[in-house]
Amino acid sequence: MEQLNLITNFLRIKDKNITITDEYDMGTHLELHGHLDYTAPKCPKCKGQMAKYDYQKTSKIPYLETAGYPLLIRLRKRRFKCKECGKMAVAETPLVKKNHQISVAVNQKIAQLLIENQAMQHIAHRLSISTSSVMRKLNEFKFETDWNTLPEVMSWDEYAFKKGKMSFIAQDFDSLNVIAILDGRTQATIRNHFLRYPRKVRNRVKVITMDMFSPYYQLAKQLFPNAKIVLDRFHIVQHLSRAMNRVRIQIMNQFNRKSQEYRALKRYWFIALCFECN
Ligand SMILES: [Zn+2]
Repeated sequence: MEQLNLITNFLRIKDKNITITDEYDMGTHLELHGHLDYTAPKCPKCKGQMAKYDYQKTSKIPYLETAGYPLLIRLRKRRFKCKECGKMAVAETPLVKKNHQISVAVNQKIAQLLIENQAMQHIAHRLSISTSSVMRKLNEFKFETDWNTLPEVMSWDEYAFKKGKMSFIAQDFDSLNVIAILDGRTQATIRNHFLRYPRKVRNRVKVITMDMFSPYYQLAKQLFPNAKIVLDRFHIVQHLSRAMNRVRIQIMNQFNRKSQEYRALKRYWFIALCFECN
């Protein structure tokens, strides 16, 4: 059991309600078997007390590949039944979103690979899922947006997720979490989206990185009055590359390698190229 706990830690399966009971080396892939169970919650329908019922049929959850092997989790989820109204409910876990068969981690990985412009077949193969799962994810790029928070540093890009059709994508610069993918990239689409965040929330954004020739510059200034608009790192690399890099290394070398300044420069050196034209 000790070792199996280690596995869940290692895989960052943080849900303490998941117990892994067996692991199998299937030759072509690894399998973990386990169950999801917790104290019966209140009924979502009548708020009455639910009681533990049976286990649902095993769900197959493809997980991120581990040590080069595809990993499949076979998870049995507890079912609950309401003592008052008889409603049935299935135990939930942050590992897999409700009514989904693909783990959150795999979903994030799909999103990341799509952003990195990897072919769908390639992603499907790499994550041991079907191409249609990748397609579904693509079509599902609707995020449950939290309108009360925005990252301090955001990057804006355009991206052709579908052939010949550009989308607008905003990401948290630090975590790389996708904040928005908008169908279409007109200024109106983007304005309408971000205006749904209260001004107070928008005011907290400090930096937006974007394409050097982006038409969004004025729009970003209007929506995010406190943000500095910064040249996108890729474009800087493209346009100013070596000269700039040399300057950065020279500056960096003046600092101790472990120092805050060194790490900050290594990470945020492009901010030195802020537009200051307002
Ligand atoms: Zn009920």
